[in-house]
Amino acid sequence: MKVFKFGGASVKNADAVRNVANIITQYQDEKLLVVISAMGKNTNKLEELVAAFWENDVYKKSEIIAELKKFHFDIANDLIADKKHHIFSDLEDLLMELECLVDKKYNNVSYDEMYDGIVCYGELLSTRIVSDYLHSIDIKNKWVDARNFIQTDSNFREARVKWDETEETIKRILKPYIDRNIIISQGFIGRDDQNNTTTLGREGSDYSAAVFAYCLDAQDVTIWKDVAGVMNADPNQFDEAIKLDAISYTQAIELAYYGASVIHPKTIQPLKSKNISLYVNSFMNTTDIGTVVNNEAMALTKECYIVKDQQTLVSISTKNYSFIAEDNLSNIFVVFARHKVRINVMQNSAISFSACCDTKESRIDDLCRDLSEDFQVNTTPDCVLLTIYNAQNELALPAMFKDHKILLKQVLGEATQVVLKEL
Ligand code: ASP
Ligand code: MG
Repeated sequence: MKVFKFGGASVKNADAVRNVANIITQYQDEKLLVVISAMGKNTNKLEELVAAFWENDVYKKSEIIAELKKFHFDIANDLIADKKHHIFSDLEDLLMELECLVDKKYNNVSYDEMYDGIVCYGELLSTRIVSDYLHSIDIKNKWVDARNFIQTDSNFREARVKWDETEETIKRILKPYIDRNIIISQGFIGRDDQNNTTTLGREGSDYSAAVFAYCLDAQDVTIWKDVAGVMNADPNQFDEAIKLDAISYTQAIELAYYGASVIHPKTIQPLKSKNISLYVNSFMNTTDIGTVVNNEAMALTKECYIVKDQQTLVSISTKNYSFIAEDNLSNIFVVFARHKVRINVMQNSAISFSACCDTKESRIDDLCRDLSEDFQVNTTPDCVLLTIYNAQNELALPAMFKDHKILLKQVLGEATQVVLKEL
């Protein structure tokens, strides 16, 4: 059996949904589970709804709900001519549920828990539309609520999958259905054991596809994207970017780790452990060969460039010229962990420690305030982190960085990383 994943861009309007249906039609005779994300940028829209809910901005809430309604109804209207089709009442039901959800007051519910309860509607709406549209063109399928299968802990917005329970339920309940139907389900969402909706982290639908594939012992997973496959650099930034035909699981994990946005970082591990191949294909040119990720890929021959902007370099030194050794380092890490500031690269010397982090102003401000109690702390905002994976030569900065100076450089394994700042 196969697992397909379609992201937001592949279902961003009615024509895109027709294209998805075309692709699915070509695999009608396969056993197939299809994971779909929210349409277009609706998860961002729903994030705005969470904020409006939290601030109790009644006007904003109803404005966003109206936009969501219009967006989804426009697509459904375009796709399905019969205005008595149950899709319209299905969408209405979901949107009314959402409206009620953000209309109430809650005690003892955290922002993150509310967030998951609200943003899941993007996936619920999109899968309803795709499933009902497929029915309307006679492609038999079954819509299933992923939350009944993907069981997680209660770490809202970044929930961890409970593998044993998830695998057991998927094998026992879902598997028999796959023998008879194409299954349409949601990416990104799950449920904890108190019945609360959880999410697996932004862009987590790839990971959902991998979880389903693992639990169903799928033969392969295909992620259908708006790019030709996994590229050696972001084609929006590098004109010369080229597609990689095949990469290994390890290379894929490392590229994702360094910030290549093409595959969600958690996706590879479950696939690797069962040797399930991952294809990254273009949904625009479905006959083109994309990238395959598996165990057989040969060594990479191309350099890969990964650019992360909006970075802040945090430089920490001891006040009393004591060394940055284990005790100081462990104190520093405790503070980073407490403020949930992720370190992308770090380096230390005798009396200083530098860490390049995503710029999330309030978190970095709080972090620095805490660190300043024991250390001298400086920050350099507006930095860029460039990772060159599989560097072939002495470091040569790409032309786009010719006006940048290097603040930090580190070579480790296959990766050369530099923190850059525009002059
Ligand atoms: N809809 C979610 C997001 O935009 C999950 C995904 O697209 O993978 O983050
Ligand atoms: Mg997405």
